[in-house]
Amino acid sequence: MTGHMRAVMSGHAYPHTRLNAASTYLVVPPVFHENDDMTTEIKMQAPICPQLAPQRVRHPLKARLLQVRKITCLTPRMVRVTFHGRDLGDFISASFDDHMKLFFPPDGQPIVPTNTPEGPRFAEGTVRPPARDYTPRYYREATRELDIDFVLHGDGPAASWVAGATEGDELVVAGPRGSFVMTPNFDWQLMIGDETALPAIGRRLEELPAAAKAYVIALVENAAEEQAFQTQAQVNITWLHREGSSESEQALVNAVRTFALPAGEGYIWGAGQAAHMRAISQYLLEEKGIDKSRVRISNYWKPGSPQE
Ligand SMILES: Cc1cc2nc3c(=O)[nH]c(=O)nc-3n(C[C@H](O)[C@H](O)[C@H](O)COP(=O)(O)OP(=O)(O)OC[C@H]3O[C@@H](n4cnc5c(N)ncnc54)[C@H](O)[C@@H]3O)c2cc1C
Repeated sequence: MTGHMRAVMSGHAYPHTRLNAASTYLVVPPVFHENDDMTTEIKMQAPICPQLAPQRVRHPLKARLLQVRKITCLTPRMVRVTFHGRDLGDFISASFDDHMKLFFPPDGQPIVPTNTPEGPRFAEGTVRPPARDYTPRYYREATRELDIDFVLHGDGPAASWVAGATEGDELVVAGPRGSFVMTPNFDWQLMIGDETALPAIGRRLEELPAAAKAYVIALVENAAEEQAFQTQAQVNITWLHREGSSESEQALVNAVRTFALPAGEGYIWGAGQAAHMRAISQYLLEEKGIDKSRVRISNYWKPGSPQE
């Protein structure tokens, strides 16, 4: 493996059992046992019990016209755009890995669809602008502000738009149309991904209660691309660096293969480059035999092809 690995551990004592006021989940401090491989693997091969199963929630699908209020450089390759708009009044994002469609017309002039009971419709004869998926990173209801973090990867309607975006620019967004709500009540959760997954990972870590234990394996370009997340949870992040080498791409898959599953009820979430996610999914589901109810892996982008 040519990627460098660095583990950062932030430690917090577990509090007593408490009801998390921000959600309806009962937060129970997880119990950690010695890692007994057999017990762990057998548990992970069994489906999640109904109390821990994720819930799917639907939201009315609506398009909104937003204005850019602020642009913040998080790292050299990651930019946060803060959008604002009256249309955000009824915005809902119930889960860290929600996604929305952002529409990028070639001339920069937003084409606003009409919201119908069946969802947004572009006027007849209008060419639907290219759309890309993004994660709502933060929503501040009081100020009707929505943050979205964009990777500056180079070409593409989204990457080009964000590279040239300035305050006051307008953009049409639609969704989220639904949420996959995951309880924080696992003994542990593992989150895997590259830069495109960091908005979801960061949001999850920041939303987790102090009793939660999370492991993150994240592949970024170099040390300057590592992000700091505010979290009460017990978090262990392993940062892997590409350093421009295509060989180090395999580092993410290798790091997952060498990750020792902790004891107890676990959940594994991953998102990023399609081939990496395919290899990771194959390893977890087919080689390790982990039950599919405990794994959620998504392809966020594919080299050489537009996302749409
Ligand atoms: C559910 C979901 C949520 C997502 N959330 C986010 C998010 O919050 N932030 C975010 O930055 N991305 C996110 N993505 C990924 C983003 O949608 C893609 O990276 C998208 O392809 C970018 O569009 P584009 O117009 O810039 O490039 P495209 O026109 O789609 O692609 C142009 C070229 O760029 C390459 N490319 C695309 N993305 C990358 C990349 N990340 N690194 C290197 N090369 C790339 C493509 O392979 C292609 O060759 C998400 C994807 C999904 C499916």
